[in-house]
Amino acid sequence: MAELTGRCFCGATRWQSEGEMLWSSLCHCEDCRRAASSDYVSWFGVEKSNTRWEGPRRTYVSSPGVTRSFCGECGAPMSFETEVFPEETHLYAATLDGPSLYEPTAHIFWSERLPWVQVCDDLPKHEKGLQAAAKAGEKLL
Ligand SMILES: [Zn+2]
Ligand SMILES: [Zn+2]
Repeated sequence: MAELTGRCFCGATRWQSEGEMLWSSLCHCEDCRRAASSDYVSWFGVEKSNTRWEGPRRTYVSSPGVTRSFCGECGAPMSFETEVFPEETHLYAATLDGPSLYEPTAHIFWSERLPWVQVCDDLPKHEKGLQAAAKAGEKLL
């Protein structure tokens, strides 16, 4: 079985996950941008039950039912979990020990992208995100 590993900026907080990435996407929503202080965020999903953490990780409830985590030492953003997908942990691709393992398959929340963001890929660009789609009974990715 494949194993993915990653770490924060200072290296004190680490994660490891057995199995494959469930999906991948680039999120342009304002919450992700502000939580990461970034133009957009490269996400992928893993199974929460197969994912282990070590280090001084701290959590922050960023909206109802949504918990984000970050390194308690250096403050680097580490994960996103939502009650809408209770069996998944969403991880920042930028935390991967091997970033080349990542391949985005779509843009989400394209409607909220920053005015200076221009991309030249051919990936699908969804106006909204995964949670809204799931609540509407749709599967976006
Ligand atoms: Zn750290
Ligand atoms: Zn987002």
